Amino acid sequence: MVTARMHRLSIVFLVSISVFAMTWHYLGGADRQLVITPEIAEYKAIDDKSQGGASVTDITISPDQTILTCQIVNQAKWPFCEIAIDLVSNNEGIDLSRFHSIGIDVDYLTPVKNERLRVYLRNYDPSYSSPDDPVSHKFNAIEFTPTVERDLQVIPLRSFQVLSWWIADYSVPIEKSGPQFNHVTSIEIATGSYVQEGKYTIQLNKLVFYGKWISESNLVKLLLLLWLVFAIIYLVSEQLQLRSVLSEIREKSLRLRKANRHLFKKAQAVEALAYTDALTGAKNRNVIEGYLSELVDNAKVNIQPFSVIYVDIDHFKSINDNFGHETGDEVLRCFVALINQRIRKSDVLVRWGGEEFILFCPATTLEGAVGLAELLRSIVETYHWPSAMSVTASFGVAQLENENIDEVIKRADKVLYLAKQNGRNCVMSKAVV
Ligand code: GH3
Ligand code: MG
Ligand code: MG
Repeated sequence: MVTARMHRLSIVFLVSISVFAMTWHYLGGADRQLVITPEIAEYKAIDDKSQGGASVTDITISPDQTILTCQIVNQAKWPFCEIAIDLVSNNEGIDLSRFHSIGIDVDYLTPVKNERLRVYLRNYDPSYSSPDDPVSHKFNAIEFTPTVERDLQVIPLRSFQVLSWWIADYSVPIEKSGPQFNHVTSIEIATGSYVQEGKYTIQLNKLVFYGKWISESNLVKLLLLLWLVFAIIYLVSEQLQLRSVLSEIREKSLRLRKANRHLFKKAQAVEALAYTDALTGAKNRNVIEGYLSELVDNAKVNIQPFSVIYVDIDHFKSINDNFGHETGDEVLRCFVALINQRIRKSDVLVRWGGEEFILFCPATTLEGAVGLAELLRSIVETYHWPSAMSVTASFGVAQLENENIDEVIKRADKVLYLAKQNGRNCVMSKAVV
């Protein structure tokens, strides 16, 4: 439940942050500006004298504007003058690749109309630049006619091109021939390529770069990554939860199985008690309902002999009378133990009542049962009973015929009666009485 709520909250969070980030980006929250001023860069004038020219320049630098006045003289091959702005003193330059446009507010006073102005963003790259050759810095260039009406001219950096003569002079390979702005060392604002003789004024009012702290595509990638991380966390937590539920179920089923085993054992014990005579430990008459009738049915189906020995202790009443009821009980217990010691595992001794017992013998013929009864009789007779008392028993034996268990028991009882009549302490048998 807790995790389901967490997942819902996570999705609400992800959707909110995605919508917020995209709106923020769309409304310009990621916009970034770099204003170039004389405070952060070194402004200077350069003209064609170093190339044999005769143009004359003068520069006035103030925090608000830089004014370059220049008298172009047609002497050098390519006469020019310019405002050069060194961004840093070292060759590494500054990284302007994150910016997409440059804004220039410039007033250009020229002797002829529609005179063009050049802007160079000079880039250093050790693969083609050498520190002591300023011309080796790449010429990312654009040439345009400043519009009089607009104060600030915004030029996309992708409109800049690398000068072809420079590519040729420095044998720059194709992969390095495109515009590059990652190590811009200086910005140059110069008179046009085909400038004519006369007086020129370049008044630079503002120079600014526009960019974004993060591009739209990078922002989308970042959000996608965020979604992905949450998806992975979600899957892993689901997996862990499933595992813990599974182990809980396993534990429960183990506990249940244990409880079941315990109950089964108890049930077995209770069942055993229900079929056991409390005094002697012999079986009681309840066995006749289930277990015993099954044995008889089996014997019938498998055509196997099944015999019944009805046992009655002789003159038990007088044992009670002479030695007490407690001793009588002890004699009963001892009597059962004696018999149980000698019979087979498959034989079942049942206390039928008082001092009467029935021994059920599966897979036993009448002769076999008679032999067993005789053996038991002599064991009882010869056993050293307490107080030197004499204990004997009479046995009536019958084999199961085409009849039910009650009938064969009745027959065994009848032959037992004969044994009693015969003077007791003897075994009598008769197939059918
Ligand atoms: P017979 O040889 O004819 O079988 O004589 P008997 O005395 O053994 O037979 P009878 O049926 O007259 O007496 C059985 C006696 O067994 C009567 C009863 O008090 C005694 N008895 C029955 N159940 C128990 C018992 O659980 N404990 C004791 N101590 N005596 C019992
Ligand atoms: Mg008796
Ligand atoms: Mg009796």
